[in-house]
Amino acid sequence: MSANKRRIAVLGSRSVGKSSLIIQYCQNEFVESYYPTIESTFAKTIDFKTSKYDCEIIDTAGQDEFSILNSKHAIGIHGYVLVYSVSSRNSFDMIQIVYDKIIDFCGVTNIPCVIVGSKIDLDKSRQVKSEEGQKLAKTNDAAWVETSAKSNINVAKVFELCLNEIEKRTPNNQAE
Ligand code: GDP
Repeated sequence: MSANKRRIAVLGSRSVGKSSLIIQYCQNEFVESYYPTIESTFAKTIDFKTSKYDCEIIDTAGQDEFSILNSKHAIGIHGYVLVYSVSSRNSFDMIQIVYDKIIDFCGVTNIPCVIVGSKIDLDKSRQVKSEEGQKLAKTNDAAWVETSAKSNINVAKVFELCLNEIEKRTPNNQAE
């Protein structure tokens, strides 16, 4: 695998807006009623700092406390985007569960990861405070950001933060 190839997996509960986030980022559009994802991979070249990265972004069907981590979402993945919706407490609680499943599977203590609070345009139905998201990210040594795929807020930031987390843990820019 070339040094500038990066595979990023996007995980989290169903309906938190994983597909919408990726589609807004890769295709610059918000699709109101997107069908539930089975699994798809998107490609995008990202200019980040002084380099170009050929990224594969893997959209997943969504996880819950009972799902077993798919090995495809752990092996050969450089970085993770874990998404909850700020309007769903349950989806927020799922983040630590999914995070723990990944580190257990990979046999590591820490992974390059961005925790994303989505749908901030739905501020009236907010159930998760920003501070709670920040705290969860800090506990897991992850980056954190709040987004809206609908209003196109902080969408690119998610993937730049993810590349940054990968680089922080990869000396000399040589991810395998
Ligand atoms: P996924 O199952 O996590 O991939 O979620 P989807 O991307 O399919 O989105 C689930 C639902 O949430 C869809 O009806 C989307 O239109 C809606 N949605 C996704 N992102 C946003 C957002 O930023 N704001 C609002 N208001 N709705 C969103």
